[in-house]
Amino acid sequence: MENNESKNHREQRYEELTIEYCPFCDRTHEAQKIHERTSLEIRGDIVEYMEEGFVCSITGNEDGNSWAPGKMFDENLLRARDAYRAKHNLLT
Ligand SMILES: [Zn+2]
Repeated sequence: MENNESKNHREQRYEELTIEYCPFCDRTHEAQKIHERTSLEIRGDIVEYMEEGFVCSITGNEDGNSWAPGKMFDENLLRARDAYRAKHNLLT
């Protein structure tokens, strides 16, 4: 069996379909909520964290085809910062 996994191990969990504004289609339609383990560079360091977002159900789940609206985006950033602090033992 061929394994085309990219170098970044990706852990994904799909949830229910919801109706959201999709920036890819520029209209409101069904989108699938997704939890995804991803990584972000913070101050030159790569940290892994769980990101929440939506995947467009029309254009499909190609790489980079997800988005996080306002509040969700902020929460993702908070989780990324927490992951950074945890990694560097900055949690009190
Ligand atoms: Zn769409």
